[in-house]
Amino acid sequence: MLTGKVAIVTGGSRGIGREIALTLAGYGATVAVNYCGSKEKAEAVVNEIIKKGGTAKAYQGDVSDFEKAKELITEVSKEFGRIDILVNNAGITRDNLLMKMSEEEFDQVINTNLKGTFNCLKHVTRIMLKQRSGRIINMSSIVGVIGNAGQVNYSASKAGVIGMTKSMAREVASRGITVNAIAPGFIQTEMTDVLSDEVKEKLLTKIPLGRMGNVADIAETVAFLASDKASYITGQVIQVDGGMGI
Ligand code: NAP
Repeated sequence: MLTGKVAIVTGGSRGIGREIALTLAGYGATVAVNYCGSKEKAEAVVNEIIKKGGTAKAYQGDVSDFEKAKELITEVSKEFGRIDILVNNAGITRDNLLMKMSEEEFDQVINTNLKGTFNCLKHVTRIMLKQRSGRIINMSSIVGVIGNAGQVNYSASKAGVIGMTKSMAREVASRGITVNAIAPGFIQTEMTDVLSDEVKEKLLTKIPLGRMGNVADIAETVAFLASDKASYITGQVIQVDGGMGI
């Protein structure tokens, strides 16, 4: 489905990003696995892809840093000659109620989730415009759509990603580039492992399908949006959330 395509997955070392990298490689894409601090985990993802006969390489880079994001995109483009798919997946949480939230907690989340997405979009766009093709998938969240107490910073960043997705989709559609967002619900990863059992039980009551999502639920949606099968879909937010946001 993705043979011959070159993909970058930001935050590909763990969780959802790891599964996206493995899935895209499984469908034949060459994958650049970006990470920030988890070098060994990123290398393990790369090794797993290579072991299965695929092509992948790990790239360290903090996406919240404009110049580092530029280096990442430039290096991947030089190494593989093109970039067909960008998955802006890197993200963090710093949860707190607004009254207790520090300026630092707000800035860290906005800088990684929202500005990090902008930084990668900014640098990849020139390449995709020249190619006259490209697939961009931005990771939002259901809380960017419906909000969540304790996540003013995170939900603002993820709502921002949705606005950015729709605006960019309009800007680049005429050049054969599609831009979509995925809004995952409550997915089992290290990000949600930190929640208390009480919070998890409460969240489960809000999910019509009655279970947490798994990383494959998200990765397969990314693969579909990255493929030719989704060529007439742009500017959309696909909620993969077990019905949480109905
Ligand atoms: P996770 O397990 O905490 O993994 C986060 C990933 O992001 C790691 O690979 C991490 O890399 C990377 N990352 C963090 N800051 C970075 C930076 N500045 N530059 C580059 N990479 C960075 O999170 P996850 O649950 O897989 O979430 C992945 C995405 O889905 C995030 O955008 C998250 O907001 C979104 N999401 C998750 C859920 C959920 O329920 N899990 C729900 C909705 C949306 P290192 O380890 O190398 O630092």
